[in-house]
Amino acid sequence: MTGSLVIAGLGPGAGSLVTPEVTDALAQATDVVGYIPYVARVAARPGLTLHPSDNRVEIDRSRHALELASAGRHVVVVSSGDPGVFAMASAVFEALEAGPAAWRDLDIRVLPGITAMLAAAARAGAPLGHDFCAINLSDNLKPWSLIEKRLRLAAEADFAMAFYNPRSKSRPEGFTKTLQILQESCGDARPVIFARAVSTPDETIRVVPLTECTPDMANMRTVVLVGSSTTRIIARAGAPFVYTPRSVDT
Ligand code: SAH
Repeated sequence: MTGSLVIAGLGPGAGSLVTPEVTDALAQATDVVGYIPYVARVAARPGLTLHPSDNRVEIDRSRHALELASAGRHVVVVSSGDPGVFAMASAVFEALEAGPAAWRDLDIRVLPGITAMLAAAARAGAPLGHDFCAINLSDNLKPWSLIEKRLRLAAEADFAMAFYNPRSKSRPEGFTKTLQILQESCGDARPVIFARAVSTPDETIRVVPLTECTPDMANMRTVVLVGSSTTRIIARAGAPFVYTPRSVDT
């Protein structure tokens, strides 16, 4: 029996933002593996076994998925957003590289999803329309000094920025430091977008000048987009549009 392993992105939350190929892969799966709230987004049906697991066990979860596929099961590992953006696809490849050689012959595919920063950017207008970078502000898997270095260099290079995992209860100070670094190095009133729970019923989008941002504006359901020096605001009666023009003067 030949198994398969698909690593799929479920998008930011709304069912309409799950791609048809991910829907098809879930329809053919015998097993769905992932973090509890993401597995909860998959409808139960006869013939499908759900394997929800806790956060921070990504390598164990990946090995489990690879073992199931080796045993002939059709496994889908689910992530929110895109599985390649601070999510399960890299964890599966870490486990694959360290695991038995036979795993490398498995049918393994990664199916993209709409990542949080793109869903958030679309809500606000086009803040990522010129060069930008994405930074995971969690220091679970890298030292804070590296995050700080990247923030300073991204500010110097005048990238627009997207921040994932901006602030958690266990490390509230990281986002406070992030705002201090940006307020020091950018120093002007460029717009910051706090996009929380995008495409879910709890969605909120706030556009705040960098100089007025405070740490409590973000939590773990927020992706934060920071404009570059060229990012513009189009004021109107409703929420403003925020966009970054395609060109920079030479
Ligand atoms: N693979 C995911 C990211 C996982 S890291 C993706 O591509 O989107 C988890 C972080 O993603 C959260 O802390 C938050 O910063 C962001 N995020 C995920 N879903 C979101 C949503 N619906 N709205 C806003 N931010 C979201």
